[in-house]
Amino acid sequence: MDLELWWLILPPLFFALGWLAARIDIKQLLRETRKLPLAYYKGLNFLLNEEQDKAIAEFVEIVKSDPHSIDLNFALGSMFRKKGEHERAILVHQTLLGRNDISPEQRGKGEFELALDYFKAGLFDRAEELLTKLLDSPHERTASQYLLDIYQQEKKWEKAIATASRISNGSSAFQHEVAEFHCELAQRDIANSKAEEAKVHLDRALQVHRKCVRANILLGDIAVAEKRFAQAVEYWKKIETQDPQFLSLVGQRLIDAYKEDGRSAEGLQLLKAYLSSYPSLDILEIVFQSMSEQEGLESARDFLYGELRRNATMLGLKSLVEAEIHFVPAERRPDLEAIRNLLHDNTKKLAMYQCRQCGFRARQYYWHCPGCTGWETYSPKLGGDSAV
Ligand SMILES: [Zn+2]
Repeated sequence: MDLELWWLILPPLFFALGWLAARIDIKQLLRETRKLPLAYYKGLNFLLNEEQDKAIAEFVEIVKSDPHSIDLNFALGSMFRKKGEHERAILVHQTLLGRNDISPEQRGKGEFELALDYFKAGLFDRAEELLTKLLDSPHERTASQYLLDIYQQEKKWEKAIATASRISNGSSAFQHEVAEFHCELAQRDIANSKAEEAKVHLDRALQVHRKCVRANILLGDIAVAEKRFAQAVEYWKKIETQDPQFLSLVGQRLIDAYKEDGRSAEGLQLLKAYLSSYPSLDILEIVFQSMSEQEGLESARDFLYGELRRNATMLGLKSLVEAEIHFVPAERRPDLEAIRNLLHDNTKKLAMYQCRQCGFRARQYYWHCPGCTGWETYSPKLGGDSAV
């Protein structure tokens, strides 16, 4: 009986203790609150209302009256950077780093923030210097990622390879990009007539990422420059097992190499087989041109009719009208030419490559998108991935 009574006392006791604890917290909070200047709340209010300019003005006032507030200085520097006022952000962070009363952690954070200011301001040399220093700090991973960005923008491919390998740490992350960096180095060597060095980079690209289509395209290009046409064909044929949609990028190269090797008919048969398995406008156009040369325009036109029945496209129709102009009587030609011109105007956009990531269109194929800087974000087919 005594035990049961004792239990009845417990709930009100806990309630009283909770109430007391809450009162202590509220008192503490009120004491802290009184310490904060009014400008702080004003600044906070402006931030919440997304009025960044006014918020910055209020925070500048607080920092003036209380220059020792390290966190506020960090917040202010970060706001200046977000607003694009890089010089002011740099000044805030440099002033912070000039102080003797900051902890090693705060110094590391300050250096990282200053590196970001330099990065955003496009002062890559200074950003690189600071970020490299931070590779042995808790900021290592983020610093490496910014360094990787800098090295790509500055086309420092060797450093980009080393940094990407450091971040991936033996995993398959960045294999796609690292293969592209090797291809960039190979492309530079090819431009400087250093074919042997280029081949080493391309072999490495394939070791890192065996599906690196670009490496086989470049190996084929080197083989052509060395007049090893049969070898070039073999490199490009490998693309079918890597990613067949990229065959459209080597269709013309294949036809030309087969021709140089005295095997034009064989080349045309191969491209017809590709077209049948992987329909693409680029290959269709190349097959049509090659058939016109090898088998005559009439045969090429009939082939085009068959393909269009199988896979109707606007660009294919334009090629067909162009072919048809040669067969109609002279008095009907102006009509067909008018249709051809109309189709040409309406298919201009389709006859371009398009980035899947940012939508940037270009007449030439880019491995590194100039719009969003993504790697292999362009569809290798004209008109993008949509049926045209
Ligand atoms: Zn893009």
